[in-house]
Amino acid sequence: MSRCFNFSAGPANLPLEVLEKAQRDLVDYQGTGMSVMEMSHRGKDYTAIHQKAQQDLRTLMAIPENYQVLFVQGGASTQFAAVPLNLFSAARKADYVNTGAWSKKAIAEARRYGEVTVVASSEDNTFNYIPELSPEHFSKDADYVHITSNNTIYGTCYPTLPETGSIPLVCDMSSDILSKPYDVSRFGVIYAGAQKNIGPSGLTIVIVREDLIGQAQDFIPTMMNYQTHADNNSMFNTPACFIIYMAGLVFDWMLANGGVEAMGKRNQEKAGILYQFLDQSNLFKATVSEADRSIMNIPFVTGNADLDQQFIQQAEVNNFKTLKGHRSVGGMRASIYNAFPKEGVEKLVDFMAEFEKSNS
Ligand SMILES: *Cc1c(COP(=O)(O)O)cnc(C)c1O
Repeated sequence: MSRCFNFSAGPANLPLEVLEKAQRDLVDYQGTGMSVMEMSHRGKDYTAIHQKAQQDLRTLMAIPENYQVLFVQGGASTQFAAVPLNLFSAARKADYVNTGAWSKKAIAEARRYGEVTVVASSEDNTFNYIPELSPEHFSKDADYVHITSNNTIYGTCYPTLPETGSIPLVCDMSSDILSKPYDVSRFGVIYAGAQKNIGPSGLTIVIVREDLIGQAQDFIPTMMNYQTHADNNSMFNTPACFIIYMAGLVFDWMLANGGVEAMGKRNQEKAGILYQFLDQSNLFKATVSEADRSIMNIPFVTGNADLDQQFIQQAEVNNFKTLKGHRSVGGMRASIYNAFPKEGVEKLVDFMAEFEKSNS
């Protein structure tokens, strides 16, 4: 068996222990004579998996009692519509911060259902920073304020959360959920696709404060209504059973490795190695201003598209896979989520130093 260093932005690499555990359980889950893929979602074996995954996520993120944890489908992209459909009340107004491609998609979707104000944007500088936000930026009568905590494509992350007062803060946390401690009580809604830091694609996590459930307008599709999933313990219909099982194994792995606090320390360390190299290199440059740098997604360039291309090709041959930047920005991007080993970052930096030497 040979495993590469996989820098994919998502679906992303999973801990090897998790894959091996799933492999051992695959055809006969704990003596049941069947795979988790084949069992009833109402049976006791799956029910136990489901409850434990929810409980472990609560433990990992210290989710307060007055929040519901929902396991839904449709990706973060479905939440772009579900959020306004659930949270738009009388005013039907929301404030959005535009920090990149995912924010833009969320804004476009919300505009179909109400009045959206883009209160700040970093588009003027290809989204390479997080705009300053103070409480007076926000509309007093907004139903919520929406941010994207970590911008997967551009590699920015909020250094501090905006103060929105009594207006619920809604966050697309797809690419940095569980990467470091977040105070859940600061948010009205957190949502995230699983395929970056949690598991395979096909599961979406929604963490929602209970007082925000039950205000949806009548025409909302039943499957998008948070109430539907809250009332049925995320089993109104067939959940993404196998993906939830995989997410549960990842939660076990995180708990066994010090939880979110320890993940945060490791992620800082890993990102630090790469940024430190980039900041002293004469060839490679980080694209994001220092204060707003993501510890999950790190874009970098040489400034020469042909050289970028050569680097990506040679990296590939040397087992550093999926380093090509997003098609909208070019260059390179190293996504180093929780499961990505520190050793892989160290080896990448050595490889980059060698490449630099032979191209100077
Ligand atoms: C990947 C990503 C999405 C899209 O998620 P899907 O699950 O594919 O819909 C949305 N927002 C952010 C920040 C992402 O990184």
